Amino acid sequence: MKIALIAHDRMKEEIVQLALAYEAILSEHELFATGTTGQRIMDATSLTLKRCLSGPLGGDQQIGAMIAQNEMDLIIFLRDPLTAQPHEPDIIALLRLCDVHKIPFATNLGTAEILLRALERGELDWREIVHEENER
Ligand code: PGA
Repeated sequence: MKIALIAHDRMKEEIVQLALAYEAILSEHELFATGTTGQRIMDATSLTLKRCLSGPLGGDQQIGAMIAQNEMDLIIFLRDPLTAQPHEPDIIALLRLCDVHKIPFATNLGTAEILLRALERGELDWREIVHEENER
């Protein structure tokens, strides 16, 4: 599965802790991240992620492009609910595309943990069927 990990600055420590706690599960999948988030996770874990640009420089849009092609299977985007972001339109666009394609999307730690446990139990395997249908 292709999983994207993104966190705003004040949420970066949380996503690093999440990646550490679920490293074994995450290591079985193809991981993507925005620039700084990806670097922070790679510094703290043994995970390898494909890093896009930093979010404010277009990284969210790069991940959004993969979502638009229905390639991403799970998005964890720990958004900072208390700070205005210069790239708010990109974030909204990313969310909207997940809704278009019904892609599981977590915006906080509570949901992220539920989705990662579901992933471990194989409850997101229906995404494989989506990919097979897309290839036809
Ligand atoms: P960053 O981008 O991981 O490069 O900080 C995240 C964001 O702000 O969207």
